[in-house]
Amino acid sequence: MSEEGDVEVHGRVIYTGVERCPVCGRDTLQVTETLYSDPVFGELILYSNYCSSCGYRRTDIQYLDSRGPTRIAYEVRDAEDVYRTYIFRSRGASLRSPELGFEIDPGPEAEAMITTMEGLLYRLLDIADRMEVLNEGNETVLARLREFKRKVKEALEGRFRFTIIIEDPTGNSTLKPPRGREGYVRVEPL
Ligand SMILES: [Zn+2]
Repeated sequence: MSEEGDVEVHGRVIYTGVERCPVCGRDTLQVTETLYSDPVFGELILYSNYCSSCGYRRTDIQYLDSRGPTRIAYEVRDAEDVYRTYIFRSRGASLRSPELGFEIDPGPEAEAMITTMEGLLYRLLDIADRMEVLNEGNETVLARLREFKRKVKEALEGRFRFTIIIEDPTGNSTLKPPRGREGYVRVEPL
């Protein structure tokens, strides 16, 4: 959620409270609900829970204008798409790009994500850096990671076209493109 602060889609906090933590049982679970609302893409609520005693953390998104289980696809063509596209990904959604060659699967540990396309690309570079350390000495894997990072860096400069695909069986994810490009977002039932 580190990019949350710089999004131009500002959320409005609609609820904060302290509740019982489901893990440690102490009454130290900070609960925040933030409403994001936009005339074109609709409304969604970000649920964010954090326990200051045990560190338990959980975030999720509920998209109030959901059309049910959906596949969302968007082609990122230039720098404007990189810097002005927002991704709202719920815990239940997978995120991938065939051209860049990555896939982020949903899982029990998955967190909801609100980020710009730029923020997602930087996150991918971080993951690739960590994998390089883990695969030290494995030249095949390292070569693939270098190629992946080259593409991601080109993408950050708006010089690499790629498609981003979000599949969400819960229908709680969405993507907001730069203004005027709403018609290029492909949404179809899963
Ligand atoms: Zn706790």
